[in-house]
Amino acid sequence: VVLVYFIWADITKSNRYRKELEKARDEAEYHGQAKHRFLSNMSHEIRTPLQSIIGYTELIKQQEHPHKKEIDAIAKSSAHLMQIVNEVLDYNRIISGKFTFSNQVFCMAELLEEVISALSLQADEKGIALITGYESHCINYVEGDPFRLKQILFNILGNAIKFTEKGYVKLTLSQKEDHQFLKYNFEILDTGIGINEKDVERVFNEFEQVNAAGSNNLRGTGLGLPISKILIENQGGHIEVKSKPGEGSCFTFSLKYKMAIKSVKEVEKQAE
Ligand code: ADP
Repeated sequence: VVLVYFIWADITKSNRYRKELEKARDEAEYHGQAKHRFLSNMSHEIRTPLQSIIGYTELIKQQEHPHKKEIDAIAKSSAHLMQIVNEVLDYNRIISGKFTFSNQVFCMAELLEEVISALSLQADEKGIALITGYESHCINYVEGDPFRLKQILFNILGNAIKFTEKGYVKLTLSQKEDHQFLKYNFEILDTGIGINEKDVERVFNEFEQVNAAGSNNLRGTGLGLPISKILIENQGGHIEVKSKPGEGSCFTFSLKYKMAIKSVKEVEKQAE
């Protein structure tokens, strides 16, 4: 009888724990969904008036105006705000699984050139060298989502430039063949301010900004890295970071793409 009692008590206890656990999980899910709903609604609400601010500012900018400097500042700030809002919306879409990857043939070399030339102005303005290091034979036509790869590179390279005051930012690429696939290893190295050891893993958490405190021009959303991490992992890749405060950071990520069987000519034809 005693044994039966203990078994019964044990089952009741574990049932109670299970129910409490389920309740906590449901509540967490509810709060998670509420947070995403809130962020999504807020972002949509902000976008509409912001669009009209941007539109009218552009209109005024085209005319001769005594307050040109101030109007340029409004244009710049509202564009920045729009970028933040869009990033929040994108993050929400990604986190709730409401997005798919596109699949198309693209040239890795062209994509990298596009990203580097878009960011070189930013680097030039800061007096930083933006260097690339990959052999031309490394570059191929592959199948996958070029837009999401660009987004990842813009995030990580953009950060590297943002958090580097002198020296350089270097993008290195290596490639390995694996049957019909090409595994790329991207490395983004900077000689910037670096990240404290205790903060390194936190940089991939949402809204986390570990060393931007107090500095307005370093402000972002704290979503660039979490978005990049999800995008990389959802494509079967992996991202990591090594960093030393005062010396710089090194972000590495891998992504695998199917080799494009189409010839260069066919791709050019497709683009026309
Ligand atoms: P943010 O919009 O703030 O750039 P991210 O998610 O892209 O958001 O990055 C999160 C935080 O990680 C940054 O605010 C910064 O503190 C840190 N970080 C990211 N990249 C670097 C880097 N290359 N050097 C130093 N700190 C970095």
